[in-house]
Amino acid sequence: MTVRLFDSLSRELIEVSPVDGETVKIYSCGPTVYRYIHIGNMRSFMLGDLIRRALRFEGRNVQWIMNITDVGHMTDEVSDTGRDKMELAEADEGLSATEIAEKYTNAFLEDSDLVGIERADLYPRATQHIDEMIDLIKILIDKGHAYEVDGTVYYDVTTFPGYGKLSGNTLAQLRAGHRQEVAVDPAKRHPEDFALWKKAGPNRALKWPSPWGDGFPGWHIECSAMSMKHLGERFDIHTGGNDNKFPHHEDEIAQSEGAVGHQVVSIWAHGGFLQMSGAKMAKSAKNVYRVTDLVEQGIDPLAFRMLCLGTRYRSEMDFSWEALEGQNRRLADLRRRVASWGDAAAELSEPARELDERFREAVADDLDMPRALVVLNETVASKLPGGEKVALLSTWDDVLALDLLREARERWEPTDEMRALVAERDEARASKDYAKSDELRDRLQGMGLEVMDTAAGTQVRPRT
Ligand SMILES: [Zn+2]
Repeated sequence: MTVRLFDSLSRELIEVSPVDGETVKIYSCGPTVYRYIHIGNMRSFMLGDLIRRALRFEGRNVQWIMNITDVGHMTDEVSDTGRDKMELAEADEGLSATEIAEKYTNAFLEDSDLVGIERADLYPRATQHIDEMIDLIKILIDKGHAYEVDGTVYYDVTTFPGYGKLSGNTLAQLRAGHRQEVAVDPAKRHPEDFALWKKAGPNRALKWPSPWGDGFPGWHIECSAMSMKHLGERFDIHTGGNDNKFPHHEDEIAQSEGAVGHQVVSIWAHGGFLQMSGAKMAKSAKNVYRVTDLVEQGIDPLAFRMLCLGTRYRSEMDFSWEALEGQNRRLADLRRRVASWGDAAAELSEPARELDERFREAVADDLDMPRALVVLNETVASKLPGGEKVALLSTWDDVLALDLLREARERWEPTDEMRALVAERDEARASKDYAKSDELRDRLQGMGLEVMDTAAGTQVRPRT
């Protein structure tokens, strides 16, 4: 089954087919690491993971990278007048920018693990790609898309005819908006131009030498530079939150396509916000929760994942503790049922295969996870033999990542045959007959087991 995704640029469903014929390459805009990531952001970051899982489910090779923004993300990106978020945190916490980046990157990765986001293949850091950004800016200047004024380099948006095609913010519309604004940077040729490189002021610590003097990169240029460095000048999918469409992704398109002269990304996928009783989750609104806050409330973080899967990724989603607690109970109940059904059946009957087909069709249809969960509920309630239900759910869990077999694993006991082989292997090890011990390990592994050498001897458990 071919996975289709909604492309925010063409506003159409597009079949995912790798441009290199082999590997689907995905770039996701990652976190700005100056504070903890809240669960609203986490929902956006789940999108890249979900796309990767859906594609692998259908047998595709996938390469997924997510950047870490550790410089250049300003508090006000639209008018280029903000302060660097990393530098602000530095002042707040009494740590260096590097220490802050390290602290919040680690926290982000730990929170990601908790909600079932499998680690990306690479997490490139902005501060480690300054040379690539400078090279890209030089190309944009050479091609007439950018100009320097007193150490700051701007992108001239009038040189890119497609500006506004992603967000709908065309120059004419932006101009109407700017007429009402009070202050516009007088160095810019047009109010809509944006900074690629900024001159470092006297108090700026995070700065690098460049052909235009000491300075630091804008936020948007990092994603152009890092995506094209690691995935090439033509790749398949770019993800982000809805709030990244403008100006971040609009500017990224102008930069990347302006530099290479052709389309770079096949599909732009954007995730909806998570709302708290109708309000966007934001630090200023004081309704911010971290994944670890859920854990402290006794909630399984994967119940949050299940809650998210119940809403289509493009839609805005309302968060409530009641709904989360409901999912928490449901997930525990689901795992208990799976554990009661015994071992997975080796073969599926026709009705089970039909359910599998419907589940796959839902996932492939622009990640229609709410529909996939309906198929799951039907399966659980069906009259299929337990073994077939286990077989289906354990396969589907590759996409759902809800650890549905957790309780089954915990309740699991080895068979008499397994126990005998384990005892035989411990004897072989005690008498230093390593050839025999290895042979017995291979036999146990052949039974689908993970074999561990512990102080108490050989331990086995089902391989996950
Ligand atoms: Zn980005």
